[in-house]
Amino acid sequence: MTDHTFDLVILGGGSGGYAAALRAAELGKSVALVEKDKVGGTCLHRGCIPTKALLHAAEVADTARDASTIGIRATLEGIDPAGVRAYREGIVAKKYKGLEGLVKARGITVVKGEGRLESGPAVRVGEDVYRGTDVVLATGSYSRTLPGLEIGGRILTSEHALELDDIPSRVVILGGGVIGVEFASVWRSFGADVTIVEALDHLVPNEDVTLSKGLERAFRRRGIQYSLGVRFQAATQTADEVTVTLEDGKSFTADYLLVAVGRGPATAGLGYEEAGVTVDRGFVITDERLRTGVPHVWAVGDIVPGLQLAHRGFQQGIFVAEEIAGLRPVVIPDTHIPKVTYSHPEVASVGLTEQQATQAHGADGVVAYEYNLAGNGRSEILGTSGVVKVVRVKNGPVLGVHLIGDRVGELITEGQLAVGWEAHPEDISPFVHAHPTQSEALGEAFLALAGKPLHAL
Ligand SMILES: Cc1cc2nc3c(=O)[nH]c(=O)nc-3n(C[C@H](O)[C@H](O)[C@H](O)COP(=O)(O)OP(=O)(O)OC[C@H]3O[C@@H](n4cnc5c(N)ncnc54)[C@H](O)[C@@H]3O)c2cc1C
Repeated sequence: MTDHTFDLVILGGGSGGYAAALRAAELGKSVALVEKDKVGGTCLHRGCIPTKALLHAAEVADTARDASTIGIRATLEGIDPAGVRAYREGIVAKKYKGLEGLVKARGITVVKGEGRLESGPAVRVGEDVYRGTDVVLATGSYSRTLPGLEIGGRILTSEHALELDDIPSRVVILGGGVIGVEFASVWRSFGADVTIVEALDHLVPNEDVTLSKGLERAFRRRGIQYSLGVRFQAATQTADEVTVTLEDGKSFTADYLLVAVGRGPATAGLGYEEAGVTVDRGFVITDERLRTGVPHVWAVGDIVPGLQLAHRGFQQGIFVAEEIAGLRPVVIPDTHIPKVTYSHPEVASVGLTEQQATQAHGADGVVAYEYNLAGNGRSEILGTSGVVKVVRVKNGPVLGVHLIGDRVGELITEGQLAVGWEAHPEDISPFVHAHPTQSEALGEAFLALAGKPLHAL
């Protein structure tokens, strides 16, 4: 057995873990990053980056298919799955190389292997023990399934879906959350018949209902089928197809079933509870400064209850590194973290939904304004419809910004600043938005809420 000593030992090299490593090294700490697979984790290798590459390929396919509507002679001859794969893998490989270079340049020791938390605190990897003045847990998440629904054969998780060599002609997607609707969007653009099954009443059910309804309308126009408010009952498969039955007796047959019912925390069998860390339904419980109950043991990313997003993991990793260094960073609540669903059309939001705002401030205490992208020149040029919705306290700050439409994900940063700085629409309305941009739609909403609408009544 060999003992190694570091200022900081991090278990898991995904978004949360590697961000903690980079920031701690920048602050002069010696850092060991324990990773059993590849640094970069889910987001880089199996999540954000490869799926967004697929969605971009899908957008190009749609653009080629619809080119004649804007006077461009082009035809979509078809999708080349091997070509799409090469494009996607090339992007991931490039980003991975860049990240490896960065980690090396900061002098971080990457330990390859499966780690387990021990008291001390320390992380054991085989016969080696890595002792840290502090230890950060960042072991991420895995694709969940439902009781009785076994993954395998024609029943896939998002990891398997990314590895498919063919484009399905019919697919059923269980779960209308972010991952489900993004795959639905890609496969539809690639020509598949797609049906989404969602037990709750809306697609993207965590979003403001205006966005959910907007996405449902847009998907209906695109020919994406969905069943809402009915629960899954069973799935059976043969060598060639899979049949999904719902509790109302309806059934759908397809080439594949994608199970996208959420992600569970990857914490089982890693020694967390034995070392005294409080775990609830698999999640590591921390205080708002990300301390577990065990002194000098911290947790970040998808294992901490809340939004499972890469940029939340980055932020938490940086936060913990700075907290350990005594910098007392500011706590960022989940409501200040922007969320983007990169489907066609995109959905983006930050802050409270109108419903949440009303619960917090009463119906009379909240004003919501919706600006339709039909009034926005740039959106017209791009051929996208959608809505910008801003929720504010009556005579008070902006509480939430909710967007739907192609490319609106890039606009959410302005919404984030408004919500995070508790800006009043009257404070923002003097700032000019370039014309013609989609950001003008957000500007119009702020103008209207400040009582001086320009291109609206
Ligand atoms: C299909 C898909 C699309 C997504 N798209 C987006 C998106 O567009 N935007 C966004 O913000 N988020 C997206 N996400 C979510 C995002 O990927 C996660 O929120 C993020 O990766 C969480 O980071 P993390 O560090 O907590 O965990 P992970 O990235 O899962 O990293 C955990 C790491 O720990 C390692 N590990 C686990 N156990 C051990 C052990 N015992 N020993 C050593 N190493 C271990 C794993 O190998 C892994 O590398 C997506 C996820 C999926 C699945």
